[in-house]
Amino acid sequence: MLHNDQLENWDRENFFHPSTHLADFARGDLPHRVVTGGKGCHIEDRDGNRLLDAFAGLYCVNVGYGRPEIADAIADQAKELAYYHSYVGHGTEASITLAKMVLDRAPAHMSKVYFGLSGSDANETNIKLIWYYNNILGRPEKKKIISRWRGYHGSGLMTGSLTGLELFHNKFDLPLQPVLHTDAPYFFRRADRSQTEAQFVTRCVDNLEALIAREGADTIAAFIGEPVLGTGGIVPPPDGYWPAIQAVLDKYDILLVADEVVTGFGRLGTMFGSEHYGMRPDLITIAKGLTSAYAPLSGSIVSDKMWSVLERGADENGPIGHGWTYSAHPIGAAAGVANLQLIDSLGLVENAGTIGAYLNTTMAGALGSHPNVGDVRGEGMLCAVEFVAEKDSRTFFDASAKIGPKIAAKLLEQDNVIARAMPQGDILGFAPPFCLTRAEADQVVAATVRAVTSVL
Ligand code: PLP
Repeated sequence: MLHNDQLENWDRENFFHPSTHLADFARGDLPHRVVTGGKGCHIEDRDGNRLLDAFAGLYCVNVGYGRPEIADAIADQAKELAYYHSYVGHGTEASITLAKMVLDRAPAHMSKVYFGLSGSDANETNIKLIWYYNNILGRPEKKKIISRWRGYHGSGLMTGSLTGLELFHNKFDLPLQPVLHTDAPYFFRRADRSQTEAQFVTRCVDNLEALIAREGADTIAAFIGEPVLGTGGIVPPPDGYWPAIQAVLDKYDILLVADEVVTGFGRLGTMFGSEHYGMRPDLITIAKGLTSAYAPLSGSIVSDKMWSVLERGADENGPIGHGWTYSAHPIGAAAGVANLQLIDSLGLVENAGTIGAYLNTTMAGALGSHPNVGDVRGEGMLCAVEFVAEKDSRTFFDASAKIGPKIAAKLLEQDNVIARAMPQGDILGFAPPFCLTRAEADQVVAATVRAVTSVL
């Protein structure tokens, strides 16, 4: 086994870490942590720490760590057939079974699933399918995509453009041209103080209609949104938001992409967020929860309406020119099958609903009246605490105060609990594995209270 110092040197010298302050890491100002194992909601590191992971990795290890059922399925698949492609009609028992399992769980009007590797590539696939669809329908001008400020849809060229967070645009020459941004349904930060939720929803909808009118409905192909804004701050939409948006999209013949990379397969206490909020998507993006991150796999679930046009396109144009070497990779597919079976057999969607509600209520009860806590919000196994410098006037801290990161660091240092300082604003996010127990939820809340009172 490598000596700790040696490993740290290699790490700082050679490893280009994603979403990391590169200079701080190279200088040693950012900690280096080597994760060695995990069981249930906990991970272990090389220094012998046992940490309660209240963010399930990157809200993806939904069934929890160390599940032998999934590990065995991966090993069996690797021994039997590590790889074969899925081009020109090829498949494996795992990929065909997983496609069936996904469609069995998806809303009834969905027709097929295209497998990729990451949430980002699945959204790139979605945009290509949308453009292809409109070209086949003879409307080559209908290509622009509307996304929301604070939405997160990936880090590729197109998906980084759809992402409505400056951090992901800065110095990358993004967003690209065909992307337009509209309001985030972020009542706490964006509503006027005198506005009701219903008035705020009307404002979001009016602004969307104004944008469509300005650009011309015949130039706009699709609207993409997460049922609950995730990386942008864990923000559930106000009541009535999605049905009102859906009505506008229907009126102007604009497709809806539900990005369910975080919410898909149970995080809100329902199989999909679309059903939770009454969305009727034409495409659904899935990734993280599809395999609980035991292997990389994503998917684009395509509706009947789009599928019939794509099939017609093939008759007119030949095979669809879109595919990844690793589309429907058998090892990822085997992990997906075992993962979905486990979610069913352990009743984890239900647990995400009940324990998630308990976590949210307990967090709100413990911190809601703290003078620097402006908002405690969440849905299912998603929870956020947003900090303010002054509650009544809703004054926010200066970004340089780094309150969110400081509280997250305290939480880790004092109680070995991992939460995520969300990338913009002073927001502490929680997205635990679905197997979280009440006792673990209590532990998370107690540790958060201690961290908040230590910093503020
Ligand atoms: N869409 C959403 C809603 C996400 O939260 C993420 C990642 O966090 C992505 C897309 C991108 O997924 P990936 O990181 O697998 O590319």
